Amino acid sequence: MIELGFEAGRMKTGTPPRIDGRSLNYSVMEEQKGDENPGKFSFSDTEPLKKQLSCWITYTNESVHKELEKGFDRSPMFQGRIKGLGPRYCPSIEDKINRFAERERHQIFVEPEGWNTIEIYVNGFSTSLPEDVQYKALTKIPGFENAKMFRPGYAIEYDYFPPTQLKMSLETQLIDNLYFAGQINGTTGYEEAACQGLMAGINAHNKVHEKEPFILKRSEAYIGVLIDDLVNKGTQEPYRMFTSRAEYRILLRQDNADLRLTEKGHQLGLASDQRLENVNTKKEAIASLSKELNEMRAVPIIVNEGLALLESAAITEKVPIVNLLKRPHIGMAELKKLDKQIEGRLNKYSQEILQQVEVALKYETYIEREQQLAEKIESLESYTIKPDFDYDRVKALSSEAREKLKRIRPETIGQMSRISGVSPADVSILTVYLGK
Ligand SMILES: Cc1cc2nc3c(=O)[nH]c(=O)nc-3n(C[C@H](O)[C@H](O)[C@H](O)COP(=O)(O)OP(=O)(O)OC[C@H]3O[C@@H](n4cnc5c(N)ncnc54)[C@H](O)[C@@H]3O)c2cc1C
Repeated sequence: MIELGFEAGRMKTGTPPRIDGRSLNYSVMEEQKGDENPGKFSFSDTEPLKKQLSCWITYTNESVHKELEKGFDRSPMFQGRIKGLGPRYCPSIEDKINRFAERERHQIFVEPEGWNTIEIYVNGFSTSLPEDVQYKALTKIPGFENAKMFRPGYAIEYDYFPPTQLKMSLETQLIDNLYFAGQINGTTGYEEAACQGLMAGINAHNKVHEKEPFILKRSEAYIGVLIDDLVNKGTQEPYRMFTSRAEYRILLRQDNADLRLTEKGHQLGLASDQRLENVNTKKEAIASLSKELNEMRAVPIIVNEGLALLESAAITEKVPIVNLLKRPHIGMAELKKLDKQIEGRLNKYSQEILQQVEVALKYETYIEREQQLAEKIESLESYTIKPDFDYDRVKALSSEAREKLKRIRPETIGQMSRISGVSPADVSILTVYLGK
């Protein structure tokens, strides 16, 4: 790839040792039960998970750290043999005790790997120190005194191609019809890789069929945030998709993923007619419940007793039910308790619909504000820039901006505005220059 002109870099990642779960003493660890209502990855009819395995929490201590330090002179990381940057957010245990020397202990999540295995994943103890050092240090962790290690932890180093060499469709700028997805773009993680694979696949298909590229906006999906960040900002360290990277977090909720994306999936031929129909039925139910809530009135004599129990102010006249729903501590469940008639009307709707409408109403102003912001930014997205635009002609641009713009070649002014190193002043200079 380098011979073809691609710029390449190195990153590293690692994994903790795997332990025989039967050799651990759980009585000295804290139990961490699974979620009572675990969410699902998709809007399917599958039953919510009931049978769950607990995780356990324990901690490292001074003597664990001392044992680990004994291996530092044999560590490929500290000896400089491995130079790539690792994930900042899940550093190895040796990184943690080195960087945060003042911390006396680090949390360890003891995670069973599944129902059909006795193997344990020691989350928080990723390491590439020599096997004997790992083992000795492990046995100093409370509950691990008699631990049997199936496999030691290790780290690997790998190549990546800075993703600023891509178009928003994930096609490379350098070679037509070549798409990059996943770890080679500097991301880490299964979902990060999977979503890029999906997008690159869709776009390769679209290209072959002479259709427009399929690009998700930052305000539409986390996939949109991820690809936009990669292409426009690049990444020096393994990139993970965190909610904190999205500016439209209130719009990008898991409860509305189907409302945001199913129609697009259907247009691409990926989501079935049935799935689209389910989403349309859901939309209708949401509209109908919202209408009912706006029509229903709370009557003082009926609801005030219940409001007092909830330590919420009494009402002095009839008010729309939505007003009560906007109060803190009052959700659909509380509304039902306030008034039998309201309960009867709300019970017609599924929990999913009730929750969706509750979220939409409670956060109405915030949602609207984000929506407006997204629309404002979106207007910049419609200003396209020619792929061969000559940035050298625009003398007023800062040299950093010119260098980045020539390298990244943004497709729109919106995309340009998000490139690190391109200031708002550069954006307005170019906007004026392009006559927008
Ligand atoms: C030790 C370790 C622990 C990790 N732990 C986690 C974790 O707990 N959670 C998490 O979310 N992520 C984890 N990751 C990261 C995650 O595994 C990767 O980011 C993700 O699997 C990358 O997927 P990918 O499809 O981009 O690449 P890969 O899964 O590496 O797939 C690339 C494929 O291409 C094939 N290939 C390479 N060259 C060629 C060629 N010339 N011709 C044909 N085929 C070729 C390879 O054989 C491979 O099958 C971990 C990674 C490592 C190394």
